[in-house]
Formats: sequence, C-alpha cells, structure tokens
Amino acid sequence: MRFASAAAGKFCARAKKAQRKRVGLFLFAAILLLVLVGGALLWMSRRAHEQTGLPQGEVIYSDVGIGQAVEKPIFSRRFGIVGRPDYLVTVKEAGRDIIIPVEVKSRQRPSAPFDSHILQLAAYCLLVEDHYKQRPPYGFLRYADATLKLPFTDEVRQLALDIAAEIRTSRTATDVARQHHDFGRCRGCGYRAACGEQALGE
Ligand code: SF4
Repeated sequence: MRFASAAAGKFCARAKKAQRKRVGLFLFAAILLLVLVGGALLWMSRRAHEQTGLPQGEVIYSDVGIGQAVEKPIFSRRFGIVGRPDYLVTVKEAGRDIIIPVEVKSRQRPSAPFDSHILQLAAYCLLVEDHYKQRPPYGFLRYADATLKLPFTDEVRQLALDIAAEIRTSRTATDVARQHHDFGRCRGCGYRAACGEQALGE
C-alpha cells in the first residue's frame, strides 16, 4: 500500500514537472514568435521608408494620414502665403535638426519636375522658413516611383516670392491672362466655366 502511494506521488511529481516544462516551452515559443514578428515589422517599415527615398527622420506633421492627425494649414503673414505641405520631416544635418517639407504626387516621375511642382514646394519652404524661423536648404518632391531632392536656392526663393506677389495682385484684377498653352490643364480645370475665353479647347 505504502509502495503504491509512493509510486503515485512520484508519478504526480513527474507529471507536474512535465507540465511546467510544457508551459515553459510554450512561453519561450510565444516570446520568440513576438520577437520575430516585431523584428519583421521593423524591417518591413524600414524597407518601406527606404523605398520612399525620404531621409530617416521624424515626421513632425503630416497631411497624408501618416504619423499625426491633419493639422491646420501653415500661414505666413510675412510672405502673405498659406499652405499645407503633405509632410514636414526633421532631418539631422551637420549635427542639427532641420525641417524639410515634402510634397507628394501620385503620378510617376516626369522627365523633369514641372515648374508648378517646384514652385509649390518652394512655397512650402517659405512657410517653413517663416513658421519655424529656419530656412530649409531643400525640399522633397515625392513621386510614385522616385523622390527628388530640390534645392531651395536664392533664385527659387525669389521666384516663389514674385509669383506669390503676382497672385495677390491678380486677385483684385478684373481679367487675368492665361500663362500656359496646355489643353489638358484647361480640360480638367475646375474654374473652366468661369474662365471664359482664356480656357483652351472646346
Ligand atoms: S481653364 Fe482657365 S483657370 Fe483653368 S487652367 Fe485653363 S486658363 Fe487656367
């Protein structure tokens, strides 16, 4: 009888030990899985970021649903312009953080960036310059297949300021001349009905 109870006790102890071992193995496998999934997600996010062509940096403002909620447009009283860049990213250069605007275009990269894209990005550079009190040395134009780094030179800056002034003057003018010969632009333009004879095409 005593022998039977001792054998049962040993069996119980062995069963408990085996159960503890199984739980331990299960926990180890779960932790390993979490680490592997975490690593894979980190790798995928880094890879996705690299594919954008954008620098590694913190997105501090986003208008495309990445990172933070959409905020108000940035207004510059000094330059008389308002706008909402798709992203603002902070990039470390020469030991200091600089804020770079990013304009996103859904189309493929053209053979050369359009003037309108360059000027739009330049306007965002002006907004960053006034709002954050630091002039960005460049901005990013991100197309579906490539990201271009466009320098914000003195010439581009001045051109953007001149165009902004021209637009302000045009607002009160009774008639504004068309500044392009692109039928496609007029065809898809939302102001076509109000544009009258200036509009190109049927
Ligand atoms: S329809 Fe008028 S406003 Fe629109 S793109 Fe053509 S010229 Fe410009």
